Amino acid sequence: MSSISTQTEEREPGLLHRSLIERPQKVVSGSGIYLTLADGSRILDGCCGAAVSVIGHGNKQVQDAIMQQYLNVEYVHTMAYTTSSAEELADALTELSRPFGLTKAYFVCSGSEAMDAAMKLARQYHFENGQPQRRNFVARRQAYHGNTIGAMSVSSNLPRKIPYDGALTLDNVSFVSPAYAYRGQRDSETEEQYAARLVQELDDEFQQLGPETVVAFVAETVGGATAACITPPKGYFEGVRKVCDRYGILLVLDEVMCGSGRTGTYFAFEREGDVRPDLVTLGKGLGGGYAPIAGVLISEKVVNVLKRGTASFVHGHTYQAHPACCAAGLAVQQVIKREDLVAKCLSKGAFLESRLRSTLGGAKHVGEIRGRGLFLGIEFVQDRASKQPFKPAVKFASRMQEAAHSRGLAVYPGSGTVDGVNGDHVILAPPLTISEEELEEVVRLLKMAYDAVEEALVV
Ligand code: PLP
Repeated sequence: MSSISTQTEEREPGLLHRSLIERPQKVVSGSGIYLTLADGSRILDGCCGAAVSVIGHGNKQVQDAIMQQYLNVEYVHTMAYTTSSAEELADALTELSRPFGLTKAYFVCSGSEAMDAAMKLARQYHFENGQPQRRNFVARRQAYHGNTIGAMSVSSNLPRKIPYDGALTLDNVSFVSPAYAYRGQRDSETEEQYAARLVQELDDEFQQLGPETVVAFVAETVGGATAACITPPKGYFEGVRKVCDRYGILLVLDEVMCGSGRTGTYFAFEREGDVRPDLVTLGKGLGGGYAPIAGVLISEKVVNVLKRGTASFVHGHTYQAHPACCAAGLAVQQVIKREDLVAKCLSKGAFLESRLRSTLGGAKHVGEIRGRGLFLGIEFVQDRASKQPFKPAVKFASRMQEAAHSRGLAVYPGSGTVDGVNGDHVILAPPLTISEEELEEVVRLLKMAYDAVEEALVV
């Protein structure tokens, strides 16, 4: 007995854990907005991992729904079978998306798979007589769409891409500027003029490639992980939609991070005027962390082309529309609806944003506080006046994450590279169930963390 336990203690951990912090903390339980660590301390989950746990942790209704699905049947293959969970989840989502022309849902297990599926659907949409007609994709710098080869190829998260670039990324993707007003909008421009310039740049890129060769333009509606909640300037997506329509190019909006109610409307694009995307990816908040589920919402226009049978959708995963994952997703959507969390997200987000502005808005290294709903980012800079970023070696965002964690708050750190500029930021994306008192606590802990990091920089 004792020799076995000694061996266990001395053994190298078997788990390959990719963590931003040197020694990841073991979490033993979660309830509401809190995680409990193995040493008994509590962490206020200010970011839901990466904007995942949209209804918070430990929800009994969701746990029961998953268990019930397991008791009924744990798995069926979609080539011949379906389940009520998958059908009802698709119905619940398309009830929300139908007014925008998105009539079908296709389920996979991750946001990356959803983006790959969307890219394949887009390419097949352009088939004629069984032959592909277009091959190019256009995406944006400062974007993240996932880690699989297709999704990584349309991403510009350079640290994740560089080791594979050229060998494991597609060569038919080109990039245009992100809608990133803090760094991209000129002093002489209005918001509308900035939007028009970005749309013109996209049009120019289509012209350069030959618009008849372009499959789709891919963009996050509100930029997340690599840019910290950058919101598009007024008129941007309406302009993008028009340019895409002019050439028959599909518009793919990635709402894996910003969708599922997080920005105060169920779909982030609802705030972008009359914009009807052709394909929309969802993930993270779809399953709220209770199960790995993501999906693609597909417009009637695309569905109809595939239905005509020039090409049925050539795609599939063993675990697509997994019954327990769909049961989890369905229960999460029911909680969101019953508790009116999307509407509440808007007012709670406004409250958090105003508290952040009054507490941290004037701080020496806070460049910008931005975002929408409960999806807020803070960009940190070396110098506020010139917007000069920190040198990467400073690792400001990682320091913020560590300092917040040691005070009992989880925040999502990040840095992105756009046109050679490194920006440090953290994202706040707490559960939509959080109360105003708890949001006050988020701000208090974040301020303490910031003060400690700033002080340590000076020394
Ligand atoms: N798209 C966006 C906007 C994301 O933020 C992410 C993940 O961070 C993905 C896609 C990829 O999702 P997943 O990590 O579930 O594969």
